[in-house]
Amino acid sequence: MPEKRYRQPLVSVLGHVDSGKTTLLDYIRKTRVASKEPGSITQHVGASEIPVDVIYEVCRPVMEALNLKFEVKTGGLLFIDLPGHEAFSNLRRRGGSVADIAILVIDINGGVQPQTIESINILRERRVPFVIALNKIDTIYGWKSQEGRPFIVSEREQSPSVIAELERRLYRVVDQLMEHGINAERYDRIKDFTKTFAIVPTSAVSGEGVPDLLTILFGLVQRYMLDRLEVTSDEGKGTVLEVRQHPGLGTVLTAIIYDGTIKKGDTIVVAGSKGPIVTKVRSLLVPEPLQEMRMTKKFRNIDEVSAAAGVMISAPDLEDVLAGSPIYVVRDPSMLEEMKREVQEEVERIVIKTDRIGVIVKADALGTLEALISQLEREGIPIRRADIGEVTKADVFEASVIRGSDERYSAILAFNVKVSEEIKREALSRGVAIFEDVIIYTLIEKFKSYLEDLRRKEE
Ligand code: GDP
Repeated sequence: MPEKRYRQPLVSVLGHVDSGKTTLLDYIRKTRVASKEPGSITQHVGASEIPVDVIYEVCRPVMEALNLKFEVKTGGLLFIDLPGHEAFSNLRRRGGSVADIAILVIDINGGVQPQTIESINILRERRVPFVIALNKIDTIYGWKSQEGRPFIVSEREQSPSVIAELERRLYRVVDQLMEHGINAERYDRIKDFTKTFAIVPTSAVSGEGVPDLLTILFGLVQRYMLDRLEVTSDEGKGTVLEVRQHPGLGTVLTAIIYDGTIKKGDTIVVAGSKGPIVTKVRSLLVPEPLQEMRMTKKFRNIDEVSAAAGVMISAPDLEDVLAGSPIYVVRDPSMLEEMKREVQEEVERIVIKTDRIGVIVKADALGTLEALISQLEREGIPIRRADIGEVTKADVFEASVIRGSDERYSAILAFNVKVSEEIKREALSRGVAIFEDVIIYTLIEKFKSYLEDLRRKEE
């Protein structure tokens, strides 16, 4: 029997705005660069890899302190560079998520906040396990910091009053999470990791607790998640993160490949705004190895990429590709029609087209549309139509028709898409309300407060 192959786990970072997601990711990236010779690390588009030997180097004191032992079967951790649940939403695959495990960042000062809950809901829906980084511990009055120190060591250096304050805030967050059905505990006090979510105190600024965080992530993956990481197919499967313009190459896709391989010359199927698109990979690009901490803009061509990896794909006819779309390699021509159907079904599963009385929803990508829809459904807001793309005259017209039946829902919710001045004028003249935002939570809040205003006016 051929030996099983496991890819490296994909890690995503979510949490409330300003909780420290970006700072934490930056620190983790720095860990990698600081401890390795440039050139010896695989570079990715849209993701940063922390190789196994770096994890061991950084995490050894934590593994020893916790007496943790696990066999390593996978590659290192591949962190998705885009933080936030809007970005996470695009990491979708049929029935779940491309991200294998996530870090939910909670600010120790702010505790559980609206986007924390939103993130938890999305993670639950996609069945993605997560570890909680209770961030900004350095802001506790009197905290003594030391760059990159494991929390388990750092804690011993703090005064009793500082520890008491940390514990007070930590268990406040534990209580808040419990109210949302999340059973969480400090990572070094957990007996059964299948029943309890781990909380790791961190500082994204000093890097304290990062070794502990990496240890728990990596340990959970090796112990409980291998099935998920087995490479099961030769033909690459992935998801489109972004569709963008690249000087000299035209429209390119940045993608995460989570299974199989993708090669130069391969036929791929992706979802477009007017149906499935079949095209041939012209080139695959990855960044040049990092020479220093700043990200380079230089890319080099490669012939093949295997899971898991972030890559830039250049091919003809990519202009209409939907961000968040699946991307499938098809090497057997007889499978092409089936894969096209599959891609089409994926899109139809998400978009909504009804005659109901409800709002019109527009979003920039499949994943964000899906996340927005499920959040609106949770709030009990009816949806008439939900699809991808900028707000059009037809959208405004359709919303204006609703006005006759129910004034409240004569509205368009636009997430991270363009609304031209002309469209705004048109909406104004037809009495259609347009709401725009780049954060799902605030977009829905804006609409809810509008509903509230209407209700008050009626009273
Ligand atoms: P994001 O919106 O979740 O990505 O949050 P950012 O990473 O942009 O951080 C928001 C602010 O909090 C920035 O000013 C950071 O410098 C600061 N910050 C993030 N992590 C920490 C931390 O661990 N300690 C302290 N003191 N500040 C932090």
